[in-house]
Amino acid sequence: MKATQSLSVDLLIRHAYVITMDDESRIFEHGAIAIDKGRIVAVGDDAAIAAGYSGKRSLDAEGAPVHPGFVECHLHASFQLFRGALPDHLAEADAFDSFESVFYNTVNDEEEYLAVALSALEMIRNGTTCFMEAGTVLAPGAAARAAQDVGIRAVIGDAFIWDRPQGFAQGLVETGCATCATQARIHPELKRAPKTRAEALAMMGRELHRNGDPEALVTGHIAVLGLGTASEELMMEAKHRADKAGVVLNLHQSYSPADTEADRQRFGTDPLLHLDRIGFLDRNVTFGHANHLSDAECDALLGRGTSIAWAPAASMMWGHGGSIHGRHAELWRRGANVALGSDSANWSNDFDLWRQASLGVLTAREAHGDRSYLVAEDGFRMATRAGARAVGMSDRIGAIEPGKRADLVVHTLDRPELIPTTDMIRALFYSARSKSVHTVIVNGRIVLEEGRFVTVDERRLLKECNKASAALLARMGLKAEPNRLARLQRKTA
Ligand SMILES: [Zn+2]
Repeated sequence: MKATQSLSVDLLIRHAYVITMDDESRIFEHGAIAIDKGRIVAVGDDAAIAAGYSGKRSLDAEGAPVHPGFVECHLHASFQLFRGALPDHLAEADAFDSFESVFYNTVNDEEEYLAVALSALEMIRNGTTCFMEAGTVLAPGAAARAAQDVGIRAVIGDAFIWDRPQGFAQGLVETGCATCATQARIHPELKRAPKTRAEALAMMGRELHRNGDPEALVTGHIAVLGLGTASEELMMEAKHRADKAGVVLNLHQSYSPADTEADRQRFGTDPLLHLDRIGFLDRNVTFGHANHLSDAECDALLGRGTSIAWAPAASMMWGHGGSIHGRHAELWRRGANVALGSDSANWSNDFDLWRQASLGVLTAREAHGDRSYLVAEDGFRMATRAGARAVGMSDRIGAIEPGKRADLVVHTLDRPELIPTTDMIRALFYSARSKSVHTVIVNGRIVLEEGRFVTVDERRLLKECNKASAALLARMGLKAEPNRLARLQRKTA
């Protein structure tokens, strides 16, 4: 490109430390990015890009890092209005009955809109530009509207696709497993969830209509709740519909020892081995969690190229995951596609993939007694490239390269955590993380500029969310109680 023929583009990002996350993991220490019509048209050394392109708008990164937006692969986007309400001493078996089911039987569409908007604000501020919803927003249309209003990319599905809602840990009743028997009981019914397989099938895939528009910010995928709540017939039909539509099939699998054991009883073998045998395990399937896998299941997952959305904080919060029980770090080193997720409020509580990536890398080192078992670049790659694949968008996002959508995060060096900049990747990953996120671009559009939202009135939305949360909790008949202080009091007595 000759200087005399410079091409006009919508936006130029100049003087950036560009971490491309492309196949060669290229870094341009003095880099620039040209963006036009929502897509990256060129990336390279600043001088070369500046000579070839002129921007209608120009953004000076002043030497700060720019990287692809993070991809959140397992998120219940509507729990936010009761974040922090579950006390630390609440038994896991009681969480659904005492909080979640009450929430789902009370929440209205406008409250779900606010909750998803709140989640989106938080994700953008933390450098996440795309999320896949875990299949639990009762009004997917409200979720889509909230994502579009805030300006985040979203991959949504239908809520509570199941045909054996009481299936969770059901197998344990028959086998009399004592440790998990408390979980095998009849849970309250969710009024708006499907009651029969026919109803589930009628709902499944309703969000796929969004995929007809190649420019759509919100797209659809196939979601099934999982954890033993779907029959094999329903699971295989979901797989068939995902294949046909060319989208990801996303479900919870093997989260706790109880649901894993229930599935093992139901299938008569390790759950993933059975799913492999019936043709379910595949490259377009993404399991949320997969915390409890046998050696043979790890081999099967690797062989089929199935993705996992690892949610370290959410699993560790309830004592199930991290790298003590999970095989995620080992699978990643063996070549599996391990992406990251935050799960939900009251599970990991903040929607910040830097925290998940950080916990993943550190717990893996702890579990394996090896400082180099996972390094910063592994966490970075899980949050970008692996995430893009796990949501079925490798062709569009996850790297800064020509042709990809311009979903970018621009940091600022005006943070003590990034100074001195001895090594930018380590400075970002171990020190600054989301604190230095400054400007966020999604689909070529600036959503957050110098720490301020340009799409929505953030302050007004936050106030509305706080108000809506109080009203919702009151209707649920619940209020947040402080943790019991018995132990503390005993110690100080
Ligand atoms: Zn989940």
